[in-house]
Amino acid sequence: LVQEKLNLLKPNTYNTVNSLLENLALEKAQKVDEKIKRGEKIGLLEGIPFGVKDVFMLQGTYTTASANFLKNYKAAYTATAIQKLIDAGAIPIVKENCDSFGHGSSSENTIFGAVKNALNSDLVGGGSSGGSAVNVAKNYTTFSIGGDTGGSVRQPAGYNKVYGLKPTYGRISRFGLLAYASSTDCVGPITTSIEDLRIVLNTISGIDIKDQTTYFSEEISDEKISKSDEIKTIGYFKNFIENDAIDATIKSDFLKAIEKIKAAGIQVKELDFFDSEILIATYYTLAMAETASNLSRLDGTNYGNRMEEKNLKDTYSITRSENFSEETKRRIVGGNQVLSQGFSDDIYLKALSIRDQIAENFENDFREVDVIISPVTPNSPPKIGDSLKDPLAMYLSDAYTVGFSLGQLPTLTIPQGTSTGMQLSAAKNNDELLLKFANFLK
Ligand code: GLN
Repeated sequence: LVQEKLNLLKPNTYNTVNSLLENLALEKAQKVDEKIKRGEKIGLLEGIPFGVKDVFMLQGTYTTASANFLKNYKAAYTATAIQKLIDAGAIPIVKENCDSFGHGSSSENTIFGAVKNALNSDLVGGGSSGGSAVNVAKNYTTFSIGGDTGGSVRQPAGYNKVYGLKPTYGRISRFGLLAYASSTDCVGPITTSIEDLRIVLNTISGIDIKDQTTYFSEEISDEKISKSDEIKTIGYFKNFIENDAIDATIKSDFLKAIEKIKAAGIQVKELDFFDSEILIATYYTLAMAETASNLSRLDGTNYGNRMEEKNLKDTYSITRSENFSEETKRRIVGGNQVLSQGFSDDIYLKALSIRDQIAENFENDFREVDVIISPVTPNSPPKIGDSLKDPLAMYLSDAYTVGFSLGQLPTLTIPQGTSTGMQLSAAKNNDELLLKFANFLK
């Protein structure tokens, strides 16, 4: 299976591959083969090939974040989530293309060429975990591990019609995931089934001493998610559906799903929520501030391409100007601006306070409903090239995903209808309920 998937990945038809881990993968596969030949029992994930978004450390492999800055950087250690999968016998076979440092919604902000959509190669693969979602959708990997800060697992999963989970913040260790916005960064599996999602999630969840935000979570059993009895009431945000920005097919797919849910005897409530513009402004203010801070360590001293100049100040400045993409620079400049004296009270602190209100809004909602459902995106995947021309339109396409990130809630994309999928979200640490509801909707 490993060899078969490597062969499928080699032509790199959809620009999903940053580096193939051929030697490492075949060596590991050989060991599993020998075990089978000796008649030993093998675990559920043993020998299963998986993809890794190129923002995860995997010792000895290139970890580029699809950025010129780290083009030649090899990881010195392995991310906890990836290590747990390796310990369970799964085999990493590819480092996957994505938007540089997770900055984007289309996987075009990359030095490895735009990722093409699995269903129509003129369209974008989505982002930032585009390569990972496309590989899963094309069956080039059995599953992939992406990172989701504001939608980067859920949106490409929707664009390519596969499952993508952003678990509750802290359920999976972020150790070894290159930090974008640390307060919303999550590790997220992308799969073709709920069952695979359950297995991978169980394997990588849990407390990690190297990430102090991790917490203990119970294993999710097959049995637990096969009954839908707990789901009595669901809600949706009226303003997400009743506006001019939403694509007609996405709206009609969503309303059809609502009807189906009602017909199954589940109560459906309309809920009020913040306007998309407020959600986008709040998320991008905080994400830019955090990424400006996180990326300040990339100055060519310890990591990455160093452009040697006559003094240290010029070395920093030229190294950063030459090696970051336009989109990343926009975010660093924006982030430093909202954090600077004279601006931080009005912008950064205000965004933090709106984030608290968003969290409170969710808490109140989840006293009334078990699950909140929404479309994944207001739009269908754009043509390759379009997002680069209009960054603001790209930011607006994140309207439905970023709120759940700010709330640090578990949120799952499931394929649905002809459009870009549906998102299910629940109260913190209620990831299990999402899998259960997804099973019910199947
Ligand atoms: N598109 C969003 C952004 O660019 C989310 C990206 C992500 O989740 N990494 O910030």
